[in-house]
Amino acid sequence: AYVILQPCMEEKSGDCVEVCPVDCIEEGPDQFYIDPEICIDCGACVTACPVDAIVEEYEMTPEDEPFLAKAEKFYGIK
Ligand code: SF4
Repeated sequence: AYVILQPCMEEKSGDCVEVCPVDCIEEGPDQFYIDPEICIDCGACVTACPVDAIVEEYEMTPEDEPFLAKAEKFYGIK
């Protein structure tokens, strides 16, 4: 799944929401969140994001990992 990182917290453009084919991106209080259980890894949101805030889960650095945990919490997965 793809994960939205720190740069979204300053930008929150929401451009990703429009392009997601499975409608799995929602606005949270501090940033947008991708539902990791619904994301089909198409990558469309990566190109749409003006601040390059979105990465594939396997490309995350250790510092990025809290953002996946935040997304899982937002969607009530863990
Ligand atoms: Fe949606 Fe595709 Fe981005 Fe996943 S990778 S959140 S399916 S646009």
